[in-house]
Amino acid sequence: MSSFQAPKGTYDILPADAATVLAVREAIAAPLRRSGYGYIETPVFEDVNLFSRGVGESTDIVSKEMFTLTKRGSEELALRPEGTASVLRAALQANLHRTGNLPVKLWYSGSQYRYERPQKGRYRQFWQVGAEAIGAEDPALDAELIILADDAYRSLGLRNFRILLNSLGDKQCRPVYRAALQDFLSGLDLDADTVRRAELNPLRVLDRQARVGAGATGRRADAGRLPVRGLQGLPRAGPRAAHGGRVSFEDDTKLVRGLDYYTRTTFEFVHDGLGAQSAVGGGGRYDGLSEMIGGPSLPSVGWALGVDRTVLALEAEGVVLTAPGATDVFAVPLGEEARRVLFGAVTGLRREGIRADFAYGGKGLKAAMKAADRSGARFALVAGERDLAEGLVQLKDLTNGDQTPVALDALVATLKEKLK
Ligand code: AMP
Repeated sequence: MSSFQAPKGTYDILPADAATVLAVREAIAAPLRRSGYGYIETPVFEDVNLFSRGVGESTDIVSKEMFTLTKRGSEELALRPEGTASVLRAALQANLHRTGNLPVKLWYSGSQYRYERPQKGRYRQFWQVGAEAIGAEDPALDAELIILADDAYRSLGLRNFRILLNSLGDKQCRPVYRAALQDFLSGLDLDADTVRRAELNPLRVLDRQARVGAGATGRRADAGRLPVRGLQGLPRAGPRAAHGGRVSFEDDTKLVRGLDYYTRTTFEFVHDGLGAQSAVGGGGRYDGLSEMIGGPSLPSVGWALGVDRTVLALEAEGVVLTAPGATDVFAVPLGEEARRVLFGAVTGLRREGIRADFAYGGKGLKAAMKAADRSGARFALVAGERDLAEGLVQLKDLTNGDQTPVALDALVATLKEKLK
């Protein structure tokens, strides 16, 4: 292993890719910002119990994938594997549910950590933008969130994604269904791993075992589906005006999701160009989570969209987000006096909002012009002693080689005009 290797399951976002990554984060955030969601940041680590109680002891995320941190010899903290539990913890701590309107609507953007077997689209550090609407039970809120995610993906130019929708049942019907499912599973010839899973969390067997799923989902108690029914008309009605299309979704009775806190409405956004790691985002209702972590009853709904996989989905669809170059003007000074003057000119241009850079390192003309080309700048700003004596600089258009003298004090205005 080279000493410059990032840890397994992680990767660096380099400037060449950064524009796409930042644009994806921004595109997911934009619909939330105009829909009453306030930005929240929470620590990257939390008390480990928050996740074991919230996300669930029996989930892979908690039982196998948590990065725990040792504090004075005992494992008390964990890097966050997801955002919802932390956001709800922060809202409860700050009493946002008492002091503000319900639902408390929050959004976040941040890295998450899971000790997974790395592969394309599955990393040990990844980035999610998420939204949570805490403390209201209203199918319109579920619909709002689904529409906002759909709008975000569409605004990026994504088309080949689908929305899978299911209900996991509520407090009343889920235990009945769970018991019926356990009973059904106990009559099957299953491997040891599945038997253990069936005891701990039988619903998780459904999304692992297609064979079992087909027989078992028919037994789902119907009551918990009602919120989904209430929701179904809404996304279809809502967004028609927004992008001329509808939010269309598929009922997927096998959709379970890897976090225990979900109740009733659950959904996943899948992209068909991603192979095995096809889920680009997911979410649902978590009406019991607040109580699970020691808070009052606060029925809530939320989602998290994966930025890494959204970037891969854009690649798969051949969508290129046009990123503006990093630099408009690159200054090439010839001699010491020119260095001093052009350094000042570059600072002035930047303060006027023009993206400008400078040939650092005392380069000769040839190397400096090469640096100007590489920077992607539209113009090189070249000046030697003779130009300066006349109060001039040479503006060279790097796209066609045209060179024009410009008075130093007219530089800002000239460039603003040319860069329009
Ligand atoms: P989850 O929190 O498991 O519901 O995941 C929500 C979204 O986060 C997924 O749909 C993925 O886009 C993304 N995601 C989850 N785990 C990973 C991972 N290990 N690597 C990359 N993206 C992930």
